Amino acid sequence: LEQSTLARIQQKDKTAKAENPISIVFVTSEVAPYSKTGGLADVIGSLPPSLAARGHRVMVVSPRYMNGVTDHLYKGALDADTRIQIGCFNGSHEVAFFHEYKDGVDWVFVDHPSYHRPGNPYGDTRGAFGDNQFRFTLLCLAACEAPLVLPFGGYTYGEKVLFLANDWHASLVPVYVAAKYRPYGVYKDARTILAIHNLSHQGVEPGVTFSNLSLPSEWYGALEWVFPEWARKHAFDKGEAVNHMKGAIVTSDRLLTVSQGYAWEITTPEGGWGMDGLLRSRASVLNGITNGVDIDDWNPATDKHIASQYTLEDRSGKAESKAALQKELGLPVRPDVPLIGFIGRLDYQKGPDLIQAGLPELMTDDVQFVMLGSGDTAIESWMAWAETTYRDKFRGWVGFSVPVAHRITAGCDILLMPSRFEPCGLNQLYAMRYGTVPVAHSTGGLRDTIETYNPFGSGRGGSGTGWTFSPLTKEAMMSALWTAIFTYRNHPESWEGIIERGMEQDFSWNRAALQYEQVFNWAMMDPPYA
Ligand code: ADP
Repeated sequence: LEQSTLARIQQKDKTAKAENPISIVFVTSEVAPYSKTGGLADVIGSLPPSLAARGHRVMVVSPRYMNGVTDHLYKGALDADTRIQIGCFNGSHEVAFFHEYKDGVDWVFVDHPSYHRPGNPYGDTRGAFGDNQFRFTLLCLAACEAPLVLPFGGYTYGEKVLFLANDWHASLVPVYVAAKYRPYGVYKDARTILAIHNLSHQGVEPGVTFSNLSLPSEWYGALEWVFPEWARKHAFDKGEAVNHMKGAIVTSDRLLTVSQGYAWEITTPEGGWGMDGLLRSRASVLNGITNGVDIDDWNPATDKHIASQYTLEDRSGKAESKAALQKELGLPVRPDVPLIGFIGRLDYQKGPDLIQAGLPELMTDDVQFVMLGSGDTAIESWMAWAETTYRDKFRGWVGFSVPVAHRITAGCDILLMPSRFEPCGLNQLYAMRYGTVPVAHSTGGLRDTIETYNPFGSGRGGSGTGWTFSPLTKEAMMSALWTAIFTYRNHPESWEGIIERGMEQDFSWNRAALQYEQVFNWAMMDPPYA
């Protein structure tokens, strides 16, 4: 957003109500706490309540996953007694809606047998589910009907709504609004926004599947996708394909992404995943808004997962949390040794291979390292190997555990994030709130949110909140890490300054919610795009 606009909206009283309340419908494949594999879930868990607090009417539509493990999370969501038939994939499919009203938000869960199976929202130990295109097409069609058919509190949301479609799983929503509803006078006053949390997953399927999507044939061009040359070697179908996210990019009224840095990167050939040309053509309606964090969930003063709570003023609990983490991990309990952490999906995006490459060099020094993550099985086995090789220095925790993520965030001195690309990134924000210093690749949201330490800056011991490095090489990463470790050991005053500036920052959703509101207002004012 323009700095002047930003300053103006930030000046408003944070508790004030919006001037123009809007009915907003979020559509998403995952939402915390019900279903979470990454940052998307965190965002959709906290942004809607912040918008509801500003007086908007807010609904979140996502699948009702029954995987046998986390089913209890949905116990507050009751059958809304509304069944609809959805026509797609050569059949008619009945879906039900479940509903929980909480924190001012209507949380709506679409129920269908295809969401009832072990695993996460997208797959299981054998890989991605084969019918994901069907599962998420169903979600989009159900979400399009939800505002029309669900009478919460006695009345439906109606047609004048703003749809916020998140990532490829929800990308058919703007396509359906443009192709199936508007031509018949329905949703004339509705507007659609695509929110891109990760452009590397686009929902690409063989062209022949178009006939399953229940779209008029003249809309084929909106989804048509010809693989760019570089992508061909990954494609299962070298010829005709449909691309769900492309459909949303060319039909949504506006586009959003989760940081300003990423908003720019995706318009470049290097960061555009083949979509940069299209995104450049829509640059005038593409905004970046940095995610907020849930400041109640991630608050070192009240965090139940950590050994000892602490505040900016009294950080003794951080030292206790570090000792407790070392003890829990079976590492030597030593306050003086720098403890470095990594939390994230073991995926090419997150750069665990760089850690793999840098670890032997790092392990020559007196440091400790803990890695939490799951995904790439080769990296998982390497973590087990490293743990036996560097017994007193390295721990690899394979798995997904929110409590452990909190304890690592609190207990470490440094959080390493060598992400190849990072649309926003949440762990560096959590780290700064917990007085843990981020060292990260200078990309996307990481570059936007971490200010590299400058010893000549005007604050306590200098300026800055961490280190970012570039290019993405082992050498650049190690050099930043060595600088951080050197500062930790030799310049405690500078280190304390870095911690304090990080902990003082405002990463609350208040700021982001105001920016979203501004973009929503623009969307509602402009004529529809498609
Ligand atoms: P992405 O969405 O690309 O995975 P983000 O940084 O936006 O990355 O968000 C990741 C979220 O998932 C954070 O809340 C992080 O703490 C959490 N997370 C990632 N891996 C794990 C794990 N193995 N255990 C617990 N939480 C994890």
